[in-house]
Amino acid sequence: MMRRLGAALMLILTAMAMPLAAAPVDIQGVRIWPAPDNTRLVLDLSGPVQYQLTRQAGRIEIQISDARLVSPLPAYDGKKGLLGKIESLPALDGASLTLQIKPGVEAKSFTLKPYEQYGHRLVVDLYPAAAAKAAVEQPREAKPAVPLRDVVVAIDAGHGGEDPGALGKRGTHEKTITLAIARKLAALINKEHGMKAVLTRDGDYYVSLRGRINKAREHKADLFVSIHADAFLRPEARGSSVFTLSPRGASSEAARWLAERENAADLVGGVSLNDKDDLLASVLLDLSQTATIEASHDVASSVLSELDGVGDLHKSEVQQAGFMVLKSPDVPSILIETAFISNPREEQKLRDARHQEKLAQAVMKGVREYFTRKAPPGTVLAEEARRKRTVAQDEGANPSARRL
Ligand SMILES: [Zn+2]
Repeated sequence: MMRRLGAALMLILTAMAMPLAAAPVDIQGVRIWPAPDNTRLVLDLSGPVQYQLTRQAGRIEIQISDARLVSPLPAYDGKKGLLGKIESLPALDGASLTLQIKPGVEAKSFTLKPYEQYGHRLVVDLYPAAAAKAAVEQPREAKPAVPLRDVVVAIDAGHGGEDPGALGKRGTHEKTITLAIARKLAALINKEHGMKAVLTRDGDYYVSLRGRINKAREHKADLFVSIHADAFLRPEARGSSVFTLSPRGASSEAARWLAERENAADLVGGVSLNDKDDLLASVLLDLSQTATIEASHDVASSVLSELDGVGDLHKSEVQQAGFMVLKSPDVPSILIETAFISNPREEQKLRDARHQEKLAQAVMKGVREYFTRKAPPGTVLAEEARRKRTVAQDEGANPSARRL
């Protein structure tokens, strides 16, 4: 009897001890997102991990304790981006991945806790070493300054890479639609006399909200236009809206809700905590930039009235909310929700290249209208506007001047 009780007790003890000998963490998938200036590697994990990154000549090793790779590595030819081949080697107490890297490449890594559709993630960012980057960029800065410059419009395709944005019923990803419209808009702007477009992303990869602001400022953008096509709680919500930054509260509950979702993009797209702290620090001083906010409102009104001709407007007034991506201190910034991807009819339209083109044309017209009135000093457009004014004044003073 005692012996049987002892055996039963042993069984119970064994069962209790089981969770202590933790099951290995599964590496459920590996995604690679090559961007023009960095390459991101994301590992999907079944739980939190301990890991180590070691740098060796031409390669980086990621050693993850108590983990196992349960899915095949993605087929990756290593032709694009900074990552060469990727392979997995058997390791004694965990998993080990070897990344072949191009010369002068550095790595930064961080883990992310579960958020929305994602579980635990380990992110490794490969980027060119600072010295190598400076050497590449130097000749560009040595260019002689041009006397008159083009107006620069930064176009920001919302979401990308790890962050698909909102999802339509038919499975359309917001990130795909925003990029398609952004590229069309950039092409139209580049065709305009005196205007030039810069895309904050031009492929399927994630750019942090701060990264988007920085890119616009690096290119000395005169305007920042963020393109979105979000979902809303009610599927019948429809139409375009244009937003500017609100230094105070949001103009409606819906606007606040949308801004909160957009601001969470960094959590989905993957930004390490340090970067987020920097972002907060860099935007806190910006809230008093009323001139920028007024200019933003001006251009937003022009764009909204052009969008009115393409389809429904969600709201007939420019909306305001605390969108992080609009917080440039010195670049007027607007965010356009082109339509609601959660509305099946609008999702259908958003997938249509002709409709995307119409939306891009409307935004371009609004932007052009704004810059013909308010061209920044030193630009081709400002000089032309000045000349036109002078001619008009001369003609006003001397009606026969035109004939001379
Ligand atoms: Zn969005």
